[in-house]
Amino acid sequence: PSLITVPVPLGDRAYDILVGRGLIASAGARIAALGARAAAIVTDEHVGPLYAHALAASLEAQGLRVSVTALAPGEATKSYAGLERVCDAVLAAKIERGDLVVALGGGVIGDLAGFAAAVVRRGVRFVQVPTTLLSQVDSSVGGKTGINSRHGKNLVGAFHQPSLVIADTALLDTLPIREMRAGYAEVAKYGLIDDERFFAWCEGNWSGIFAGSLARDKAVAQSCRAKAAVVVRDEHETGDRALLNLGHTFGHALEKITAYDSARLVHGEGVAIGLALAFRFSASLGLCPLADAERVEAHLKATGLPTRLSQVPGGCGTVDELLAAMAQDKKVKGGALTFILARGIGQSFIAPGIEAETVRRFLASEI
Ligand code: NAD
Ligand code: ZN
Repeated sequence: PSLITVPVPLGDRAYDILVGRGLIASAGARIAALGARAAAIVTDEHVGPLYAHALAASLEAQGLRVSVTALAPGEATKSYAGLERVCDAVLAAKIERGDLVVALGGGVIGDLAGFAAAVVRRGVRFVQVPTTLLSQVDSSVGGKTGINSRHGKNLVGAFHQPSLVIADTALLDTLPIREMRAGYAEVAKYGLIDDERFFAWCEGNWSGIFAGSLARDKAVAQSCRAKAAVVVRDEHETGDRALLNLGHTFGHALEKITAYDSARLVHGEGVAIGLALAFRFSASLGLCPLADAERVEAHLKATGLPTRLSQVPGGCGTVDELLAAMAQDKKVKGGALTFILARGIGQSFIAPGIEAETVRRFLASEI
């Protein structure tokens, strides 16, 4: 199998992201090399039946003691109840400080199992084996872990870096197309943030990424490099890690308005609309050429992603509802909003102090 190694140089918590097709077969040896004697695999009921057996067998072949816990698929699993189940499973598997929790799944499982690893015995090591495009290019890298609370998404959590990330791009072959597209919005985002060349490469190679050619491995690796670079500069999001939120202020508002109902909108679809909006907003403020905003929209549309508020199933709500949803977002300070705007493709920047009235006028022109 092909192998691309992306290092994440975080001092004494440095780790590697391994990207390649077919890596799950050798995952056992790579995980065993971390020196654990036992591994608690945490997965969901979609992914478990497809891949847990291969991963467990590969670990057992290295002499590790292995347990497998499969939770219900879906965002609702990232809960206190889910956390309790995973912590109990990890303790029942007698995972000690030197041992490992292995998250085999999408971002839901990665965030939940990572958080359990952060708190069980005040912290055990964990490995990410991400199985969605979104988790391979985004959530498995950077050490943010957590669960949702009745007060909002991801409000209870911890920074806990994995010891290793194994992104087997062949696992994405079974991913539903809608999830593939949603993850792709985050891939395109990295180009839009600060890498026009990568965005142009994506425009030419997206169908290969979807189909599973070597372009997929390259796109995952390049996305991980981009995310790792930001994380290394700003691990705890006090500064420019916020650039990763390009498209997300609008996107989160749309997720809120659609009640986090994945039948209506999944995160990446919200991000795709959010990216298109962020560029049109930038253009409307005279910051960015309109041609760049049109290029962003054309590309996202070509992949089948939504780019307009009118494409939100069941409606996007009124301007006031959208504004209210954005004002609840944590990126709000003193009435004004912080947006990630762009001077062009690959030239995004943090723009604090955008008046609600300015956003209102723009949204009114979009609805
Ligand atoms: P997910 O984990 O819910 O997976 C999406 C769906 O695909 C699920 O039904 C899952 O069972 C299924 N699936 C997963 N892998 C599959 C495969 N290989 N084949 C077939 N089906 C498969 O969703 P996601 O988009 O991966 O992650 C979303 C979560 O990630 C959210 O909770 C979000 O908050 C979180 N997130 C975290 C970070 C971070 O930095 N920690 C960043 C972005 C998103
Ligand atoms: Zn995102």
